[in-house]
This record gives sequence, C-alpha cells and structure tokens, in this order.
Amino acid sequence: MNKLIFAAAATLALSACGQSADDMSETGISAERLLAAQSDDANWITYGRNYEEQRYSPLDQVNAETVGDLGLTWFADMDTARGQEATPLVMDGKLYVTTAWSKVKAYNAATGELLWEYDPEVPGETGVKACCDVVNRGVAAWGDHLFLGTLDGRLVKLDRETGAVEWEKVTVDQEKSYTITGAPRIVDGKVFIGSGGAEFGVRGNFAAFDAGSGEELWRFYTVPAGDEDENSAEYLQAAAKTWSGGVLGSESGIGGGGTVWDAMAYDAGLDMLYIGVGNGSPWNRAYRSPGEDGTGEGDNLYLSSIIAVKPETGEYVWHYQTTPGETWDFTATQHIMLADLEIDGAQRKVLMQAPKNGFFYVLDRETGEFISGDAYVPVNWATGIDENGRPIENPETRIDVTGKPAIVAPGALGGHNWHPMAFHPGEGLVYIPAFEAAMAYAPEENWKPDPKRGFNVGFDLAAGDLPPDEGMRREIAGTLKGTLIAWDPVAKKPRWTVEHPGPWNGGLLATGGNLVFQGTAGSEFNAYNAATGDKLWSFAAQTGVVAPPITYTVDGEQYVAVLAGWGGAYAITVDGDLLKRKAPVRNVSRLLVFKLGGKAQLPAAAEMVQTPLDPPPSRASADVIAAGGKSYARYCAVCHAPGAVGSTVLPDLRRSGALVNAAAWQSIVHDGALEDNGMASFSESLSKEQIDAIREWVIFRANQDKALEGER
Ligand code: CA
Repeated sequence: MNKLIFAAAATLALSACGQSADDMSETGISAERLLAAQSDDANWITYGRNYEEQRYSPLDQVNAETVGDLGLTWFADMDTARGQEATPLVMDGKLYVTTAWSKVKAYNAATGELLWEYDPEVPGETGVKACCDVVNRGVAAWGDHLFLGTLDGRLVKLDRETGAVEWEKVTVDQEKSYTITGAPRIVDGKVFIGSGGAEFGVRGNFAAFDAGSGEELWRFYTVPAGDEDENSAEYLQAAAKTWSGGVLGSESGIGGGGTVWDAMAYDAGLDMLYIGVGNGSPWNRAYRSPGEDGTGEGDNLYLSSIIAVKPETGEYVWHYQTTPGETWDFTATQHIMLADLEIDGAQRKVLMQAPKNGFFYVLDRETGEFISGDAYVPVNWATGIDENGRPIENPETRIDVTGKPAIVAPGALGGHNWHPMAFHPGEGLVYIPAFEAAMAYAPEENWKPDPKRGFNVGFDLAAGDLPPDEGMRREIAGTLKGTLIAWDPVAKKPRWTVEHPGPWNGGLLATGGNLVFQGTAGSEFNAYNAATGDKLWSFAAQTGVVAPPITYTVDGEQYVAVLAGWGGAYAITVDGDLLKRKAPVRNVSRLLVFKLGGKAQLPAAAEMVQTPLDPPPSRASADVIAAGGKSYARYCAVCHAPGAVGSTVLPDLRRSGALVNAAAWQSIVHDGALEDNGMASFSESLSKEQIDAIREWVIFRANQDKALEGER
C-alpha cells in the first residue's frame, strides 16, 4: 500500500520561527503551550483540545455523582439561523466561537458578557458554493491572535483582545467553488488551512501560511493536475499513474476533487502533520477516470486518503487510501485522532479514523502501515479489508454510466461525517457519532460537467428522490438511524452503543468525570456514563445539536459549553417531512453554557409554524415537468432537499409564494434577487426556460404532497 515512504527524521525541532515578539505575551499561545494543551485543564486552546485531537478533558468536578446538578448558567443567541458546527476555544476566562457565515464572537466565559464580535461579510451568493450549509467549525489561536477561515476562502488574523483584523489573505481561487468551513491548525507559527468544493469541480489542496506575515509558505495538492512530468513532485507523478485521464487536465476544469476540508492532527515527536482527503470530482469514477469495464479504472490517488506531511515544508511522507477508486463520496476527511495503544502486546503509535466508508481504521502513524479496519456501521460496498489494507469490494455497488442503480451502505453522508469523535484514555474507547443512511446511486448517461454551478457528481440525482407514497416514505424513514458507538480500537468492536431516534447527532466530548457529552438531532444535550453508556443527564435544547461540546474552568469552577443549532449536510438535503415524523428538528442557533448549580432558563420554545401546502394547479406538460425535475436534482436539491420535500433550515420551495408568479421566480433564480441570502443567480448554467420548468416541477411535486396530506 504505502510504497512511497520517505525516511522520516523523527527529530523534534521546535524553533521560534513565525513567533515574532509582538505575537507573544504572557497570555499568548506559544508552541510550548500547544504541546502541553492536554494538561492545561482550564483552557481549550486548539480545535481538538490537543494536537492528537482526542477531545478528552481531565476535568472531573462534573461527574457521575454530580452531573444531576448540572444546569444552564448562561446562553447567547446567535444572529444567524443556519447550521452551527463550531468548537469554541477558551483561553484565560474568554470564550471564542465561530458561527454560520464565518462570524466570530468573544464572550466572558463565566458570565456570557459579549466582549466583541467580528463579521467577515462573506458575500451571500457564496452560499451556493457550499455543499453542506454555510457552516464554520472554529478558529485557531497563536500568540495573542486568532485565525479564521471564511466561507469565501480567506484566512483572517484577528486580535484576540479586540477582534480587530490584523491581515487577511485569499487562500483559494475565488473564481472557483472553493469554500472554507474547517478550523485552521497551527504548528510552530505555521497556519494550515484547506478547503472544500469537490462536488463543484475543484482540485483539492491545503496550504501553510506564516502566522506573523500571512505569507504563503507552501501548498500541497492532493490530486494530479494531469500535466505531470519528471519535474513534478514525486508523489504527484506517482498519483498521476493511478488516473486514466478523464477529467484531469481537461477543458472542463472539473478538478478531480480530493479536498482537505476538515481533519488534521499533529505528532510533535515524529514532526508529522496528518490530513484527511475528500471524495472525487465528479463522484462517478466512470466519468472521472474512464476505463475498459465501464465503471472506470485506477485508484485515483490521493482521493479518500490520509496523508502525512512535514509541517515545515509540506513534503509528502506517507499515505493510506481508505477507498481506492472512490465513487460514492466516501471522503477520508473525517476526524483523525492519534493515541498510543497496546496492540498484540506492543505499544503502538496509532492514527485512528472512522471515515465515511463505514470502516474504523487503525494505522501506524509513523509509517502509514495498516493495522486494522473493521466495519462500525452496516457496510455493503466491501466485505472487509484485506491484510494489506485494501478493501474487498462488492462489484454490485460500482456504478457504470448506464445500467443498474445500486443501493449502497453507507451512503454519501457516510457512516460518520464531520462530527468529532472523542477518546477516553482510561476506558481505551473512541466514541463515534455514527449513523446509518444508505443511498441509491443511479447512473446518468451522457452526463456533462458544469464547472459554474450545480452538483457535479456524474450520477442521476433525480432517480434517488423519495416516491410520493406515504407508506414508502415511512419505511425509508425507519431505516435511518443514529448511534453513539463506544468503539474499542484494540478489540475492534463496540463495547456499548446508544441508539438515537435519527441520524446527524452531535460531536463528542469525553471527560475525567467519566462522562461523554453529546447533543442530538432530537434536540437534547445529554451526558452518558463513559464506561457503560447509561444516560445520566439530559437538557432540552429546543433545537438540533450537531456541534461538539467543550469543557473548561474559570476560577476553578468547571463549565461545559456547546453551540446548538440544527443544520449541515443532512439537515439541508434530507427529507424535512421524514425528519418531522421522527423528531421535529428546528434551528435555534444558541450557545449553551452549563455549570453545577446553574440556574439560567431558556425562553419558552416557539411553536414551529408550518405554512399549509397551497400550490397553484399543475398544468405543465409531462415533458416540461420531467425536465424541470432533472434540473432541480442537479442544481437545487443540494440545498432545498431532494424531491423538494423541504428541510427545516432552508426554504421549502413547495410552500414558496413565487410558485404562482413566474416573473418573481425568474427574478430569484435567474437574476439573483435573493443573492444576499445565499441564493445566487443560476443564469450562467440555466436558461429561463429551464428555470421555469423547475418551477413547474415544484408545483407538480407540491400538488402530489398536498394530496398525500389529504390522506393522513
Ligand atoms: Ca463530498
């Protein structure tokens, strides 16, 4: 698997480079402080709490005995109603959190007093470039500054005391559909940030910037450009041999994908930075890397891989590819966690990941050697992983450009998505916020990429729409499941599992109080016994919680904080009606902070008001409706849900007032009248005729569902 292992100099050389005098002060975040983050009980100074990204806090005031007294002590309402995925940082009594649209807010961590706020004023039309909601997962701290990646691709350096901008740097080609949602990480004064966009035709990469000057130090591309020669980086020459051509180097500019939109981890002893690489662009390998047998050919390195690089230079060290020839949107951008475990009697430095493909991997993080890979959710695309670390694929789940569709488990949302896991060193468990949601992948003949707008996946997305049949919808809803899995990475199986009513539950925190905290899609914020999974405490959050909690102390008192607010990929693309039947999920974007004896009360939850379905009659021809449905699936479904069944986060188009007014519909979709809200113009990709056909299709769908309502 890993034939390209370079000799790794395991010397730890932490110089003071990038750490200018005015960056550092008594309260500044230094290289030493970041290395010692695990023992810094009071604070939470980097995204995953430590460089190993373990999200384990030794704090134990809140524990199995006392958690019953845990109560809300303050809360802060956010000024957006979109998905909230951020991990707050806490330093010296101040809490810094990012919200939707890449805004930053600073609070007194004990009282909730707002200290400052910063809005990077991301142009609203950027929303259409984001596959998975306009979320942001957090800032990084260095010296007396914070570093923020914005949705439109900027890296911004802020004064931690005041929120003032010191500099900002555009890190992506803003002509293309790159977006930043992830938190930067910082090693020794170098700020690392990648980006997303693999559904929209980009070439994945991430880069290092000098924390002092903002200068770009190096950039690492994860997939070949298609023009590699003997002067190209060796790792890219090697990768180019695993692609058959296809989109690489083609006029379509479809990029190949492989974006680095979330996970990173750092081993200071080995001086290696680990990053997770995303899916192919387009998804369907048959189009991306065409081959003899119809489903495409080649492993297409480094899609769906974990890559180790030298943080100083960006030099490639090793890679492990979780899903060779990726075709199902099986990213390996999921949480990368490092730990030292005893396996078969030997102490191993491991790297762990539960990527979308449904297998939990344990790798040797010095060499990339495969140690184990075991299914943590039901999987049908592979029957297992062979001893070389290569999946044993089920050929029935590979899709051609014509022929049979396949129902694949996990589906494109994965068995686990971006939601952070947590590790409990005492229990030796990794807690996984997992879910089960299979997906139908249908071929699309004569698919053509559109690098401007729309989902560039190479499958017929309209074919995956749920049928307008109440019984079938309920049956499908019944197959959706969310689980909290306490995974034993040595025994390679779960020790305990908690079942939630639906998928897309929150990220995790484990503590020295032997607790695991998690919010749920079912609008709860819960604490479980870390050893047994027994639910010990629950708070009614009034909204779906997807972000991971943190814990910290101020003046010796322990706090637990979580950013609540439903949203993200599942919330915007999955049938809102299904969700409502399983658990009503609304978005109330709000930071919730708890402590023992906390007495704050949330205001009463507002009723969820649902406008009745009242579409105009459907009079268009079947051809127009069918064409509209195809365009909808490609251009609209990613935000407004397949089948137009409405998410609870973005407008339900079946209930849109513009359905009756063709001119108003054109002014929104063609002319971009609502672009400040994130609804950009589609005039470069769709004609007025096509746009009106979409309206006719939505009218048709709304009438179907109105008839269903009558049946209930
Ligand atoms: Ca993707």
